[in-house]
Amino acid sequence: MTDAPARADGPGREAQLRDRSSSVGQMLLDQVERSGNREAFRHRDAAERWTSLSWNQTKDQVFELAAGLLALGLEPEARVSIAATTRIEWILADLAAMCAGGAVTTVYPTTQHDDVAFIMNDAGVSIAVVEDAEQLEKVRRDAELYDRLRAVIMIDGDDPDEKVHSWQDLRELGRTLLQENPGAVDEAIARTGPDTVATLIYTSGTTGRPKGVVLNHDAWAYEGRAVQLFALLHPSDVQFLWLPLSHVFGKALLALQLQIGFVTAVDGRIEKIVDGLGEVRPTWMAGAPRIFEKVRARVMMGTQGGVKGLIARWAFSVGQRTIPYRLAGRPLPRGLAAQYWLADRLVFSKLKERMGGRMRFMVSGSAKLSTQVQNWFYAAGLLVIEGYGLTETSAVTFVDDPRAPRLGTVGRPVPGTEVQIADDGEVLLRGPGVSGGYHNRAEANAESFVDGWFHTGDIGELDADGYLRITDRKKDLIKTSGGKYVAPQKVEGILVANCPYASQVVVYGEGRKYVTALIALDPEAITQWAADNDLGGQSPSELARHPKVRELISGYVDRANERLERWETVKRFVILDSELSVDSGEVTPSMKIRRGAVVRKYQPQLDDLYED
Ligand code: AMP
Repeated sequence: MTDAPARADGPGREAQLRDRSSSVGQMLLDQVERSGNREAFRHRDAAERWTSLSWNQTKDQVFELAAGLLALGLEPEARVSIAATTRIEWILADLAAMCAGGAVTTVYPTTQHDDVAFIMNDAGVSIAVVEDAEQLEKVRRDAELYDRLRAVIMIDGDDPDEKVHSWQDLRELGRTLLQENPGAVDEAIARTGPDTVATLIYTSGTTGRPKGVVLNHDAWAYEGRAVQLFALLHPSDVQFLWLPLSHVFGKALLALQLQIGFVTAVDGRIEKIVDGLGEVRPTWMAGAPRIFEKVRARVMMGTQGGVKGLIARWAFSVGQRTIPYRLAGRPLPRGLAAQYWLADRLVFSKLKERMGGRMRFMVSGSAKLSTQVQNWFYAAGLLVIEGYGLTETSAVTFVDDPRAPRLGTVGRPVPGTEVQIADDGEVLLRGPGVSGGYHNRAEANAESFVDGWFHTGDIGELDADGYLRITDRKKDLIKTSGGKYVAPQKVEGILVANCPYASQVVVYGEGRKYVTALIALDPEAITQWAADNDLGGQSPSELARHPKVRELISGYVDRANERLERWETVKRFVILDSELSVDSGEVTPSMKIRRGAVVRKYQPQLDDLYED
């Protein structure tokens, strides 16, 4: 086993770390005391204008909602499910449920009815918060489940059933309770301690039924405090938040804000991100790798031809050459410095402006970020650092340091988190952020939580300074018939990074003589390409079958193969008719590809690829 050297924590760090709030509700109260009138959240109103909530206003709304939940009979640790997109009401409902002593069970708005019913039954949900009529319908389809619910809160709209309360109703119920008993919510917060269950997040896993990861209040208080001590983020920062809050990465961002006190602008609509960045001008943002891949692919596509293309390619090659100097903190040689200045003026400054113009850094997490994509951003002067964690560790366990980034690594552990690399390379984690286990899953718990160490299933390497590099997942390794191991994530990452038209790639080859791939095209990107190449008017699925598109993709696959070991290269591929989707069960709600399910579905097409 290999241990990471302890982070340069300095004396007193442990005591500082222990000095944290006793619960999420207490974190809110502490932040309100520090920053009452300062801005906490920015969100769009009905007319799409940005509007702000101060910490005081946030507390007032949260207290009304929490009192409303108490008025509806919410009991300590009783489950409150939230099924909604990323929006201010999600955050307020989450805080309210936790302040009232309840435990939030997150449900992706895209999760199908069957899984919604499974999750809600497994968690034993008492009160369901649903975004709209569509989410309500999913809960209602299971009559027994619906019957057992104490109440349903609807964020948008209302419903005649007396069990259903509108958002305004809930606030009204809360106001009435607070008039009778002004201390009701404070008392509920006081009853909630570090070990009280705060959150159940179901990991959809890429196989089997979802498992509910139980996270207590201290896990969130710890996450907030540990990242605060890392001194990466400050109260003056502005975050742009669009990640799904049903996923642990999004949830952790809320804990960081609660502890550190920066402003969060929230809008979960992907199509609004670009506008939002320009309007909010955030200083940092977190995202999944796909969003960074998309930005890069868009820019590359927009600058493919003509003089503009030449200039962009020149600028990026100059940027690439500056990387070793900048990473080492060394000055650029004079000639290169002049070229980099010009590249910035001509190309990079525009890109930075599109990200709002004030971005200090961005954080990628929840899956591996391709080093190629990370380098591309860094070449342009935009830093994307990686963080690493799992639902079972309440997200952040490692994060790279923007002050001295090591690209390709996920950085070092946050203070208070310990890591070991097992003999087979598996990453094991221990610390206050690690969950006590899955809800009602004795067998899985015995397998994954051993002597306080959580077995992540990820394969990683630690360097001498304790920086971790995630190289693969334990279960995903493919063994070819030649006995060579292939890390599918690596091959898929390189294919996606090298082909601006590919949105998803699934690599196959278990027990086969070579590696093949299923490639799904980005419908927008391929439609644009078709319009530019006299093939306009065809649907993405028609284009997927067009010989010219095949030729185009084949060229990119060849280029990607140059970056792979011989036994990893993709010899043949199928272009899929459409993107893999959550609806068809091919992708988890957190957008992880269910490789097994996809391979089973397309087995005949894959088999054809091995026919000589
Ligand atoms: P989830 O519980 O859905 O957040 O998934 C956790 C898994 O995501 C981990 O076990 C890793 O396989 C993967 N993951 C998260 N962050 C990273 C990262 N920075 N690099 C590589 N894989 C990651």
